[in-house]
Amino acid sequence: MTATAAPALSAAADKFVSAGPHKLLIGAEWVDAADGRSFETTDPATGQSICSIAQAGAEDVDRAVRAAREALGGPWGTMPAAGREAAIHALANLMEANGDELAELEALDNGKPVSMAKFVDVQLSVAHLRYYGGWPTKIEGETIPVATPDMHCYTRKEPVGVCGQIIPWNFPLLMAAWKLGPALAAGCTIVLKPAEQTPLTALRLGEMALEAGIPPGVLNVLTGDGETGAALVDHPGVNKIAFTGSTEVGRLIGATAGKMLKRVTLELGGKSPNIILPDADLEAAIPGSLQGIYFNSGQACNAGSRLFIQKDQFDDVVGAMAEAAKGMKVGPGLDPSTQLGPLVSKEQHERVLSFIESGREQGAEAVAGGGVPEDSNGGYFVEPTLFADVSDDMRIAREEIFGPVLVAMPYDDLDDVARRANDSEYGLAAGVWTRDLSKAHQLAAKLQAGSIYINTWAPSDAGAPFGGFKSSGIGREMGHANLDAYLEIKTVWTNIA
Ligand code: ADP
Ligand code: MG
Repeated sequence: MTATAAPALSAAADKFVSAGPHKLLIGAEWVDAADGRSFETTDPATGQSICSIAQAGAEDVDRAVRAAREALGGPWGTMPAAGREAAIHALANLMEANGDELAELEALDNGKPVSMAKFVDVQLSVAHLRYYGGWPTKIEGETIPVATPDMHCYTRKEPVGVCGQIIPWNFPLLMAAWKLGPALAAGCTIVLKPAEQTPLTALRLGEMALEAGIPPGVLNVLTGDGETGAALVDHPGVNKIAFTGSTEVGRLIGATAGKMLKRVTLELGGKSPNIILPDADLEAAIPGSLQGIYFNSGQACNAGSRLFIQKDQFDDVVGAMAEAAKGMKVGPGLDPSTQLGPLVSKEQHERVLSFIESGREQGAEAVAGGGVPEDSNGGYFVEPTLFADVSDDMRIAREEIFGPVLVAMPYDDLDDVARRANDSEYGLAAGVWTRDLSKAHQLAAKLQAGSIYINTWAPSDAGAPFGGFKSSGIGREMGHANLDAYLEIKTVWTNIA
């Protein structure tokens, strides 16, 4: 890589960053943490601090939950469905109008390429809110033809109430949009907790929500770390928790939610198999598989991180992929020529490098990458890495790495590959590259995963459900499946005799 200095921020992004230290949004007010604590958010391309951010504690969580409860009983709760639609669309329009600024903030805070932040993160976030912005006027109950004579029975769909939404650092704005969309559409109120590594775009979103006319208290933004998140999960005034993050933390949240009988949706880790069949169009399968793992520097829960190639073509395909991986440009997200940005944090950098080390120790060979680029300039860069000679039981083949590390394994036939693809605690996504649609759909039926990609990797649409089998989660994001997760069904019986 070349250690070119990142271009300066635009005036708009600079204005937001320079306005720090940033505060918590509770109701209509931006406030410091009750105990005055704060933390620094850092630029992963340099390891330098960007600005200071308030660290919410249990007292702030309590105040935010009370503000959310009040908003539920206030103008938001009584607003007609058409009013909620207009408010959600106004927020989407503001996000679109300020898209360049949001993309820059995301690239700065997370490290991802700014062009990707603009065309993927911001555009999908806007599309997501517009999709859910159409729902409020279509949330309908039913009339039930019950057996009892002279009984009128109908259902109403009501918001579950106050929602704690805890989001990760890999797609900070997009994950916030994924969670806000259905909650706002259903008429819920929200306490949003962005990841401590990447708080900036959630804070900007909080400003925009107020500007869009969403009543104060409907969206509260509490920055902080896992302790803040845990206080939100523990708070008895929170009716539902929506979490995207690690399987480890997901298990903790699921356990607490279970005890307290809170509604919960969990979108967790993955170790998704990507299968190239011998008849695949390699011109599509090779770049598609590279994109499947190296997109967002491998920091995607649905990264195609286990590559299965039929044994007769294994060496050829691995060779071509290694050459392509070596040619990818690693650099700061704000440099427009960057393909792979840095990893989000020092912690993540160390974690990914230790996985690479474990691969070597267990006898795998890195045929591309396997280290940090020269001139890393204090940033958390890792080369796009491809391991061959990997066996299914190695740590790099079983555990989620969440970095630009692909492991390739040869297989014999469809039964062999289906069994090994499913031999994982995870089940988020799986992919098949083939020209034979019958084999593609046979595999689609056999693979245990919430999303199956055939001759593509990870397309995304607000209307298409996304989530995990097995330890990859509970419930679904996107589509009407996720809207239902924010609604309670109330059955009303009336004796009309
Ligand atoms: P990672 O380890 O990759 O940072 P996490 O699952 O720890 O992923 O973090 C995802 C989100 O969950 C972040 O917003 C983080 O602050 C939050 N979080 C971490 N630990 C907890 C916890 N015990 N309870 C609630 N939220 C948590
Ligand atoms: Mg963590």
